Amino acid sequence: MRSVTPEEIDALLPQTQCGLCGYGGCMPYAEAMVFEQAPINLCPPGGVKTLQALGNLLEQDPTPYLMEMEQKAKAPMVAIIRENECIGCTKCIQACPVDAILGSAKQMHTVIAPECTGCELCVPACPVDCIDMLVLPTMPEHAIDEAKRNTARNRFNQREQRLAKEKKAKQSHQLHSLAERKKYIKEALERAKTKNNPPARNQA
Ligand code: SF4
Ligand code: SF4
Ligand code: SF4
Repeated sequence: MRSVTPEEIDALLPQTQCGLCGYGGCMPYAEAMVFEQAPINLCPPGGVKTLQALGNLLEQDPTPYLMEMEQKAKAPMVAIIRENECIGCTKCIQACPVDAILGSAKQMHTVIAPECTGCELCVPACPVDCIDMLVLPTMPEHAIDEAKRNTARNRFNQREQRLAKEKKAKQSHQLHSLAERKKYIKEALERAKTKNNPPARNQA
């Protein structure tokens, strides 16, 4: 079998970025299939279609997983916020893997429906339970249209990069604060030492 890259596998995944496969998104699952021999049957939003495509690419027979996948395949969905109940806590924004929610602190929030992948991650994050998931009658565009999948992938990657940058900045700020604190304590100790042991007066 020729070697398959994570990017080739990721191109077949629905980009819902829900984590139902047990990994932190579609690309982490793709990487696990390449580097950890993760099985091909872990993506419920992809359903049978993705299972078969993965089997084809990775030269694995999907037949043993078909029945199980038919049962656990996940219906396409979109999130809707009951805006009059929203308290503007921003927790849903923090949970959304593709930045598909608009709003700011203490303001009503709303879902950008075309960007929503239906991952459901915002639902448990909402403290007032004002997010509904609407089951779509057909496959959402992002699941069938490559351009839409690419958009979801890009938004997920951009968010991951932004979070990594914010984490780095926070760590750097903490280190800076720690260095400042150490410097302050050192100077305070030196001042106390000088006060308790003033320099000897000139006897001349
Ligand atoms: S859609 Fe969800 S379950 Fe499927 S690979 Fe992406 S993160 Fe995993
Ligand atoms: S709005 Fe909710 S369901 Fe839609 S992508 Fe964001 S977290 Fe997932
Ligand atoms: S988590 Fe719920 S209450 Fe908080 S901003 Fe989002 S929708 Fe509004």
